[in-house]
Amino acid sequence: MKGSLRLDILTKTFDDLPVGVGIFEIPDLEDIESIRYVFMNKVLLYEMRKEREEVFGKRIVEVAPEAYQHEGGLYVINTYFKVAAEGGSINLGLVEYSNHMVAGTYECSVHHIQDNYVYVMLRNVTELEQAKNDLERKNKDLSNFAHMVSHDLKDPLNTISSLIELIKMQFEDKLGAEGNQLISFIYDSAKRMRNLINDILEFSSIGQHKEMTQLDCNELVDIVQQDLKTKIKDNNASIEVGDLPEINGYRTEMRLLFQNLVSNAIKFNRPGESPKIKISAREEDGWTFTVEDNGIGIAEENQEKIFSIFQRLHDRSEYEGTGIGLAHCKKIIDLHKGEIWVNSEPGKGSTFSFTIPK
Ligand code: ADP
Repeated sequence: MKGSLRLDILTKTFDDLPVGVGIFEIPDLEDIESIRYVFMNKVLLYEMRKEREEVFGKRIVEVAPEAYQHEGGLYVINTYFKVAAEGGSINLGLVEYSNHMVAGTYECSVHHIQDNYVYVMLRNVTELEQAKNDLERKNKDLSNFAHMVSHDLKDPLNTISSLIELIKMQFEDKLGAEGNQLISFIYDSAKRMRNLINDILEFSSIGQHKEMTQLDCNELVDIVQQDLKTKIKDNNASIEVGDLPEINGYRTEMRLLFQNLVSNAIKFNRPGESPKIKISAREEDGWTFTVEDNGIGIAEENQEKIFSIFQRLHDRSEYEGTGIGLAHCKKIIDLHKGEIWVNSEPGKGSTFSFTIPK
């Protein structure tokens, strides 16, 4: 590791990388203070606010003794020591570090090179983490706003609906056929608006103030079948349920997910065909669930966009709906850190799949 040629090669290879790279020697595996800097590229020198002459060949304890006093600093130094002694690599994830010159969050990993030598790779993610926190806060604000607005819209809408009912009851004779038809249009629109508001309200409440618990998916699907009993019967639908696992998840959200997928599978059936639905799960890393139907199917070019809010492929006169159901499903699966997608052949049926990590 010594000698100018090697240092030249290291500098040429690592200096302009966009991540910090530092090589350390631990000459005495019994003494944590023996750790010394062999090489640091530009990014790492910048992160430490040091010049190469100040650090190369020196011990950490000489150049940055404060690192031994800081929780994050000591954690990283201990990891150099551990990797030097035991080999392999350790990914430290996010480490907070600050001294009188710097303060930030660093993504950091330590790797063994050869006896007594390790290297660290480090990326300053302070701004990224801040942006992530800001985004999370803004999303929460937006969700609260949607929740508040939809909640407040319910009151005047309820008044409108009651007044329409009243007009219908009191003036039915006087309104004539045309007047009655107009009233029923208003009534239907108010009903649609109520469904929309309820859906937005539900959408904005996903994952708020709830805890993950152990869930028996067979039980959840049973409940969904009970809730959809009338719909299942009216459409002569048959539902075959395989052996479903227990998962760690959000109860109300998972029930809504199955409910949305099953009610879509019933709703988007082919005219003249009874809906046949199969729900199953298989184990692959985590769990992969599928809800399969024999309905109208979805063209390839629409298979992604249906998971966005308010995206519908049909006119309301063909199929009722608000276009929120699948966006809802996507949000629920995001909350569980899984994925959701559809495979489908138009005219044959659709298979919605989603994963739930263990
Ligand atoms: P909604 O059901 O209220 O229209 P969704 O978000 O649940 O809204 O679905 C979005 C669109 O995706 C639907 O309008 C429909 O065109 C399509 N879709 C959803 N599920 C199915 C399915 N099982 N078979 C065929 N098309 C479907």
